[in-house]
Amino acid sequence: MSLDKLVEKADRLLKNRRVEALGGGAYNVVGDHGTYIVVQNYDGKMSCNCLGFLGKGKCSHSTAVLMRARANDAHLS
Ligand SMILES: [Zn+2]
Repeated sequence: MSLDKLVEKADRLLKNRRVEALGGGAYNVVGDHGTYIVVQNYDGKMSCNCLGFLGKGKCSHSTAVLMRARANDAHLS
């Protein structure tokens, strides 16, 4: 999956409110093929328990959480 597609899909997840904060840096993301847990580390890095992330180190779920966090930062500042 290209980066553009990844961002596009992540954007769609956010707009459909499929990203739910669980607290403590953990998020529940309802993807097209299942529900995944995305966790944000102390240094801001994301990890997801889906196969795409395990294989490539990136996925639309973790990207969606990252975009959401950035949007929140922009809102606060
Ligand atoms: Zn994922």
